[in-house]
Amino acid sequence: MTIYNFSAGPAILPKPVLEKAQAELLNYQGSEMSVMEMSHRSSLFDKIIKDAEKLLREIMGIPENYKVLFLQGGASLQFSMIPLNLAVGKKALYVNTGAWAKKAINAAKTVEGVEVEVIASSEDKNFSYIPTITKDQIDQKAAYLHITTNETIGGISYQTIPDAGDVPIVADMSSNILANDYKVEDFGLIYAGAQKNIGPSGLTVVIIREDLLNTEPIFSPMLDFAVQATNDSLYNTPPTYGIYIAKLVFEWIQSLGGVEAVLQQDQEKAGLLYETIDASNLFESPVAKEDRSITNIPFVTGDEALDKKFNQEALAQGFQNLKGHRSVGGMRASLYNAFPKEGVEALVAFMKKFEDENGEK
Ligand code: PMP
Repeated sequence: MTIYNFSAGPAILPKPVLEKAQAELLNYQGSEMSVMEMSHRSSLFDKIIKDAEKLLREIMGIPENYKVLFLQGGASLQFSMIPLNLAVGKKALYVNTGAWAKKAINAAKTVEGVEVEVIASSEDKNFSYIPTITKDQIDQKAAYLHITTNETIGGISYQTIPDAGDVPIVADMSSNILANDYKVEDFGLIYAGAQKNIGPSGLTVVIIREDLLNTEPIFSPMLDFAVQATNDSLYNTPPTYGIYIAKLVFEWIQSLGGVEAVLQQDQEKAGLLYETIDASNLFESPVAKEDRSITNIPFVTGDEALDKKFNQEALAQGFQNLKGHRSVGGMRASLYNAFPKEGVEALVAFMKKFEDENGEK
């Protein structure tokens, strides 16, 4: 049976990447060593991390005045590390768009000396839309404005990035990095856990504008962006194998024609599923049309028992990890870059069949 993996993360990786990693697993480029066994200070690994950064700079169009950091601790550590580095003694602004934004807000509130202000929220409508942000809402003295460009659980994403004036925008891009046409220069800092569109979990990518790096050390070197930047992400042992896989993923994206080409495929895949949902009398999307995510697509029947039946039958047909997040129920299809179009075609065919068999609501 063909398996289609709709996991929200850790998520499907491109098959050619896994095949290359497999071919190189025991003997990386004639070294008779696996990348896993190499010193992070070796010349072979030095080339891997430099190539990974170079490729990411190319495919994302990262300007020279930004540092690229390969860290650990997941996006969740960034929820604390960002206010700690950027906002002590200052105000930090947040937009509350759902489960992940909330976690970022709550973590920032625990950092001593940081004043957290939530300037907009879509909680009034169960986080089904992205609130409009205007420049006059933004205190120009704030350290940053934090947004979550794609809410992985809620399935909403920013189609355009707000104008925050001189206040840097800090973005949790965990679930739509490399699947959008945002411009890096519109942000002061971008961060993402790798386990969706970049590689295996354990690696966190941070892209930070140089003027946002501290000039004075903060209490912990490991948590200090400036220390990590000065040491080219090698202050301690970085997640070497994750960085290697990320490099292969960036090469794969480049071989397909870059982010623009991949995004076009993502839009086609998401479009196919949304068309099916919109044409259906059984399934519906719980989010505002104009804010729909192309990477995480929740849908429901409106009847919990029927959702359960759908999930059970889908699983039996090889559609893995389609069940909605435990906090919202229903279904959720995560269609990251590596997810094949055939999987979406198979899913929509299955949805139509299920609708025929289970009638209209
Ligand atoms: N932000 C978003 C948008 C996410 O989807 C996730 C993980 N699903 C996180 C943050 C947390 O990431 P991590 O598990 O890497 O800490």
